[in-house]
Amino acid sequence: MSLDLKRIKDWGLGLEQPMIISGPCSAETEEQVLTTARDVAKDKRVSVLRAGIWKPRTRPGSFEGIGEIGLEWLNKAKAETGLLTATEVATGAHVEACLKAGIDILWVGARTTVNPFSVQEVADALQGVDIPVMVKNPINPDIGLWQGGLERINKAGITRLAAIHRGFSTYEKTPFRNLPMWDMAIEMMRKFPDLDIVNDPSHIAGNRDLLPYVCQKALDLNMEGLMIESHMAPSVAWSDAAQQVTPAGLSQLLDGLTFRQETSEAADTNKLDSLRKEIDDLDDEIFQKISSRMKVADQIGEYKRDNSVTILQVDRWEEIVNKRIALGVAMGLDADFVKHYLKLIHKESIRRQNVIMNDGQPELVGK
Ligand code: PEP
Ligand code: MN
Repeated sequence: MSLDLKRIKDWGLGLEQPMIISGPCSAETEEQVLTTARDVAKDKRVSVLRAGIWKPRTRPGSFEGIGEIGLEWLNKAKAETGLLTATEVATGAHVEACLKAGIDILWVGARTTVNPFSVQEVADALQGVDIPVMVKNPINPDIGLWQGGLERINKAGITRLAAIHRGFSTYEKTPFRNLPMWDMAIEMMRKFPDLDIVNDPSHIAGNRDLLPYVCQKALDLNMEGLMIESHMAPSVAWSDAAQQVTPAGLSQLLDGLTFRQETSEAADTNKLDSLRKEIDDLDDEIFQKISSRMKVADQIGEYKRDNSVTILQVDRWEEIVNKRIALGVAMGLDADFVKHYLKLIHKESIRRQNVIMNDGQPELVGK
């Protein structure tokens, strides 16, 4: 089915494009919500305060959210700062509590989008209500589930509807907490040209260092918003500590981004620009692969340490080099270039394995 949609700029909330949503992963205490909101609101680019009230945690025993009291804290923060409020809902009861509290925007989380029963329960609770809703992509890369989630909410009469791209879970260890799989978001844009997509770099990156890269890429793809987790003291956050930034860090992050106008001039990129973009994308992928390769080398390092195997095994190395050179040449690469590349990669793997053997003491590594 096609979706009957209003763009974010037409939600009647005065939201600018891109809409910047920020705030803690979880509401923890009144003080934490209010302090974070006050500081985040100093940056006028931020228009919406987020905070998780009910937290779907992978394993029991972690902090599972502060519950309904947190909605009051969000309202207090709104009254003080003027920020709109947004939170995650996963059940009909969550929706009812949010509607009663007057929360401005709801979103369906990635762990809910995977389950049509849950999405339908949320949709049923939204029947006849006019509130903006965003649907995160499911944790697994299934475009049908994402689409189905949007359709169920839309069928309940919600037209102020957007999607959130938060990346996809993988078994393979990658530099990202959730692989962005940008093609999935692009496919949604192609299928639903009127659908606004908000990027969630925090859950894609899983760490602060990759946030600028993910944010910029989302803006370059013309996504209509960013949802970036922030916390007054990220290192002691009760959930997602590694990926949250301080409000000051958020401003710094936003300062470093290039916000491009979608003018006909910008859209009309010439051939050279598009080829350069292709090279940039390939370089990103190569880095991603090298990073994954190093992580596997680290695991081998741990195995060698635990089983007293020597780091350098000459026969294995010779075998790799010969096989890989033949493969590289077959792919049109120069044999010397392949040899150089392999040497460099190998040297770095050995350096990392040495660090592991010496229990993280880089000074013990032989040159
Ligand atoms: C969140 O936004 O804090 C969250 C739980 O995200 P996701 O549903 O993307 O895992
Ligand atoms: Mn989170």
